[in-house]
Amino acid sequence: MPRKTKILLIEDHEPNRYLLTFLLEKNGFEVVAAPDGPAGIALAAREKPALILLDIQLPGMDGHAVARALRRDPTLAHTPLVAVTSYAMAGDQARAVEAGFDGYLEKPIDPDLFVEQVRCHLRPLDPEPGR
Ligand code: MN
Repeated sequence: MPRKTKILLIEDHEPNRYLLTFLLEKNGFEVVAAPDGPAGIALAAREKPALILLDIQLPGMDGHAVARALRRDPTLAHTPLVAVTSYAMAGDQARAVEAGFDGYLEKPIDPDLFVEQVRCHLRPLDPEPGR
């Protein structure tokens, strides 16, 4: 069987974590999840996910600070990083781009569109699997 594409989800809201994990796993992705920034950064360094979904509104270290920390790690500098933002935050694009995000998903996510939206942000083919 081909290796599953691994997604890291950093999200503090448990019901959201559950829903997004369910949708991704149902569509053949492997999901690793963390409830806060520091745990997510540690997991990213260890798991080297193909893509990171990052909630902006996290307790303590917010999503922008987490994004900057992830981008400082050379092994994660090019990992697609997608913000998951509430409607109120969605206009704050300049700040998110500056923090290193590649894209946005607005909460509440649409369960019918979510997986396709994630796929759009994945690199087409990893030329060096396992890197
Ligand atoms: Mn949150």
